[in-house]
Amino acid sequence: MNYLSTRGHPDRKRFCEILLEGLAPDGGLYLPEQYPQVDTATLAKWRALPYAELAFEILSLYIDDIPPADLKALCAKTYTAEVFGTDEIVPLRELEDGVYLEALSNGPTLAFKDMAMQLLGNLFEYELARRGSELNILGATSGDTGSAAEYAMRGKKGVRVFMTSPDGRMSPFQQAQMFSLQDENIHNIAITGVFDDCQDIVKAVSNDLGFKRKYRIGTVNSINWARLLAQVVYYFAGYFQATASNDKPVSFTVPSGNFGNVCAGHVARMMGLPIQTLVVATNENDVLDEFFRTGVYRVRGAADTHETSSPSMDISKASNFERFVFDLVGRDAARLRKLFVEDLGLQGSFDLSGDPAFQQAAGRFGFKSSRSTHADRLAVIRDTDKRFATLVDPHTADGLKAAREHIVPGVPMVVLETALPIKFAATLVEALGEEPARPKKFEGIEALPKRVVKLPADAEAVKAYIAQNCD
Ligand SMILES: *Cc1c(COP(=O)(O)O)cnc(C)c1O
Repeated sequence: MNYLSTRGHPDRKRFCEILLEGLAPDGGLYLPEQYPQVDTATLAKWRALPYAELAFEILSLYIDDIPPADLKALCAKTYTAEVFGTDEIVPLRELEDGVYLEALSNGPTLAFKDMAMQLLGNLFEYELARRGSELNILGATSGDTGSAAEYAMRGKKGVRVFMTSPDGRMSPFQQAQMFSLQDENIHNIAITGVFDDCQDIVKAVSNDLGFKRKYRIGTVNSINWARLLAQVVYYFAGYFQATASNDKPVSFTVPSGNFGNVCAGHVARMMGLPIQTLVVATNENDVLDEFFRTGVYRVRGAADTHETSSPSMDISKASNFERFVFDLVGRDAARLRKLFVEDLGLQGSFDLSGDPAFQQAAGRFGFKSSRSTHADRLAVIRDTDKRFATLVDPHTADGLKAAREHIVPGVPMVVLETALPIKFAATLVEALGEEPARPKKFEGIEALPKRVVKLPADAEAVKAYIAQNCD
């Protein structure tokens, strides 16, 4: 299997070459040259497999530069009941007639990002050992991504993590989750500033090519193809749990921010999994909902990007969206470049409303969308508690609200549960007047000793800290 860039760069790469890379050299995103097709006989065979083996089968179609026995061992080591809480790994439960919740957030940091990041940690360790190389991951987080990365990379050989976060701005629970890690290779850096300052620092350090090369700086952001690929697996696992045979369509609703999660659903659908509809759920930051309603993709400025009660969906642009648009325009790289480089670069938007391709977003590709407000999420949290004695987090509440707007009788609607409510306790308290119960292993974590350094919002200070801690 070879990978190409959405922007038309002539090079083709194999999986392990792009594993440790971010963007393609021309600024595009990597995609497989074609989507492997899965027929009904294969689906029938896969239906009975435990999650780790299903993961191995799907990953094998995209990874041909890791020996199968090694890849199988990596999957088996990643997807265990010990790490994800149940043998099913992503158990499905019916909430009401035809509406299901697929639990993706029972990993170490209680958000769905663990599903991919835990595999990435094992893949990185494996590949770095094979190359005799090291990687220093530099990131910026306001919560979920940073903790998922740290829990995936802790104790891994050849990897260090330097994670910046805005000092004092994460929830006490999120701070405790990250700062209580005592592993030598995990470095928490609290920056005196806001999240944008952290992101600017990461950019400044990455743009210093000499420093980047010398200290082997890398990232684990959501455009990484391996993360997306790992997420394809739970669409198959959800499908098998929601159906008794492989001729039945299923729809999925996905709380979305950077379009990574739902893009994995798109890949599963392109492979032939019988997905009828992919519902993109957004919050007040409705860049994606606007596109699927109107055909106009309009990147938001800072002043237009809202801080909401589903903060992991607070985006100004959706960094994985380019992958879908590449397929939408028939994999025409020149066309894609015009949209993402020229139109977005010059005017901050592009408009496909008059283009036949746009009709295919809903038609051929099965996309629909919805948006929710803070009041909608509170209402869903209350209603789900009252009618089903089930607590959902505000991101999953975005999903439930969107799902109900697109239900078709007879077609199971699977809503992806992207976080556990305890991570967003303040909103649960606002909705219900009380804190959600806390999983046992997180009791009292706020009182644990913290491992964190405080640095000014200055790239030079962060570089000096990395240099000091790299020997
Ligand atoms: C990251 C995240 C999302 C958004 O996922 P994307 O892949 O960026 O679309 C939704 N919910 C939660 C809880 C998240 O952590």
